[in-house]
Amino acid sequence: MERRQLLKYMTLGAAGVGMAGLVFQKGTAVASPLNMPVVGTYDVLVCGGGTAGFPAAVSAARQGVRVGVIERYGFMGGVPATSIMPSWHHLNKRGSGFLIEFAERVSALGVGPDPLDNRHIEPEVVKYLFHEISMEEGVHIHLHEMIVGVIKAGNRVTHVITESKAGRRAYGAKIFIDATGDADVAYHAGAGVMKGDAEDDTLQGMSLRFRIGYIDIPKYLDWLKGYPQYCRGRKADHIEKLKQRYLKGLDIHMGTDMSNIWDSDPDPELPRNTYFVWASIRPNELSINSTRIYNVDGTDPDDLTKAELTTRKQAWAIWRYCKKHIPGFERSIIVETPCHVGVRETRRIRGDYVITHEDYRNARAFEDSVMFDNVTFDSHDSKKYDTFSRRGAVVDIPYRCFLPKGLDDMLVAGRCLSSDHLANSAIRGMWNSFQGGQVAGTSAGLSIKYGTTPRDISFSKLLDTLKKNNLVTSGDMHMKKSGQ
Ligand SMILES: Cc1cc2nc3c(=O)[nH]c(=O)nc-3n(C[C@H](O)[C@H](O)[C@H](O)COP(=O)(O)OP(=O)(O)OC[C@H]3O[C@@H](n4cnc5c(N)ncnc54)[C@H](O)[C@@H]3O)c2cc1C
Repeated sequence: MERRQLLKYMTLGAAGVGMAGLVFQKGTAVASPLNMPVVGTYDVLVCGGGTAGFPAAVSAARQGVRVGVIERYGFMGGVPATSIMPSWHHLNKRGSGFLIEFAERVSALGVGPDPLDNRHIEPEVVKYLFHEISMEEGVHIHLHEMIVGVIKAGNRVTHVITESKAGRRAYGAKIFIDATGDADVAYHAGAGVMKGDAEDDTLQGMSLRFRIGYIDIPKYLDWLKGYPQYCRGRKADHIEKLKQRYLKGLDIHMGTDMSNIWDSDPDPELPRNTYFVWASIRPNELSINSTRIYNVDGTDPDDLTKAELTTRKQAWAIWRYCKKHIPGFERSIIVETPCHVGVRETRRIRGDYVITHEDYRNARAFEDSVMFDNVTFDSHDSKKYDTFSRRGAVVDIPYRCFLPKGLDDMLVAGRCLSSDHLANSAIRGMWNSFQGGQVAGTSAGLSIKYGTTPRDISFSKLLDTLKKNNLVTSGDMHMKKSGQ
């Protein structure tokens, strides 16, 4: 952000002045907030500028309120950018609201695949458009600041505390949206959070996506046609179709089980019990989702270090294997590893309602539904990889899942939504995180506009606004629309 712009919104010289309350970290009061400059105050402050944070910020700003975003990295984007994840499943089939508007902007930019045609978005386009659209909507972007605690008065967070090159500072707001993925803000504020499976605390495994370039892709696909056992039963004609699509300059993707061929390879750095899922969104390149590590927690820096070191070794081992054994990879090189290992699951808030795997299995409808999801689990657990799916079935996501129990004036959005372990394996998808961001941002903006709180907001007003902005807010509506 321009220094001039920042100064406009600074509470100058406010070194702790007027800050009542106590500093909280990890849910515990640790100090009084003296000598901490308050460098920004907003109506709505979005914490985390990722998959859910971006639509939350834009949707709040569109209600005419003053919005800030705090992001720990040097760019907005979240997983699709920091973990170079290009596969926005269901976007072109089930997406609605601002997600489709965003996809139209991507399409109009003409860089990388067209998400309206398939489902991929070029990660660099995510970074670029998240910034462009946020600035168009008057959102104030604060990069390179990590939220490490909050200041609380009663059940309300009044400020978040950040650490950066500038030391410790605080940002105030009337309403906060926790879109950190890890529920950092709700957790520091003492909200109830859950982790892992109820039975054994198992968190989903992490994967570092990476890109291999300079591949002769038609040659690789021609070779693959001879091995249906690596292609989950896909026959040669399917692979030929992919090849023809690729030759037209379009994106392609495939889930393969090619990792079984390297199971006999003694290289200890090759990941076991995994798959070889790839997308080709740039010429001569595959973006590969195949590395894997279990029993690590994305909120523990020691575990994250272990995960980064292990999965980076795995990426190089996979590339070595491909280069040596697979036709088409002879001249290939690794062209990119991301800045952050992909974390599938950490904290989930305990909200006013916790959506469960039974709700999913039963395709349950809720009166306070604000969006819907497919009934498909995707839990990368070390012991039981659950991919239960009910074709065509959809489940409602209740508004109460966005409200952390015991905290006022706060919403969450993204993968930390209030859900059990298996339900979370579905809800964490990018299309859900994004559409949930629209819900949270709209609710926060309307709450400011009508002088109420996200918990007390008129639900019909919220629903009307979401619908006016083209979000399909329940599975029922979706079924009617698509004639299912
Ligand atoms: C390996 C992997 C594969 C996946 N595959 C798919 C797929 O194929 N299709 C699909 O739809 N989904 C997929 N997902 C899931 C999906 O990408 C994520 O669940 C979703 O993007 C999460 O969105 P979010 O907004 O909750 O978090 P994020 O997108 O991670 O955004 C959180 C943002 O908050 C910032 N932040 C975090 N903590 C702080 C802090 N304390 N202070 C300041 N900023 C902070 C982060 O830097 C980030 O920008 C995959 C995920 C992984 C890891």
